[in-house]
Amino acid sequence: MPAYDPDNIFAKILRGEIPAHTVYEDDHTLAFMDVMPQGEGHTLVIPKAPARGLLDAEPESLAALIRSVQVVGRAVTAAFDAEGLTIFQYNEPAGGQTVFHLHVHIIPRREGVPLKR
Ligand code: 5GP
Repeated sequence: MPAYDPDNIFAKILRGEIPAHTVYEDDHTLAFMDVMPQGEGHTLVIPKAPARGLLDAEPESLAALIRSVQVVGRAVTAAFDAEGLTIFQYNEPAGGQTVFHLHVHIIPRREGVPLKR
């Protein structure tokens, strides 16, 4: 696996170098709206600690991340009146990853409304 690149776009968001629509933050994680949403309310949750993907993240960071996924999942469910959630996470180009700072996608879902892509 390649080394973590501190110039990836989410590292820049964490440093405040580029803007993001932040919806949740705590000591260990940040959540913000996806700039190209696959559905209404598509949100990304990331750890503040550097990790390229799931496989190189520290256990404490992963624990904080999944707790925040639950917090944000509950919040977007209420905010978007969701009937369900699609939650996914990609690793490396072969796995579909395009931004190389660990992130979890959360998409509120309603019956009969497909994802955009
Ligand atoms: P991946 O395929 O790596 O799991 O997904 C990366 C996600 O980051 C995509 O859904 C894409 O729309 C989103 N994204 C890429 N660049 C930016 C950005 O500059 N700001 C935000 N908020 N999302 C981004």
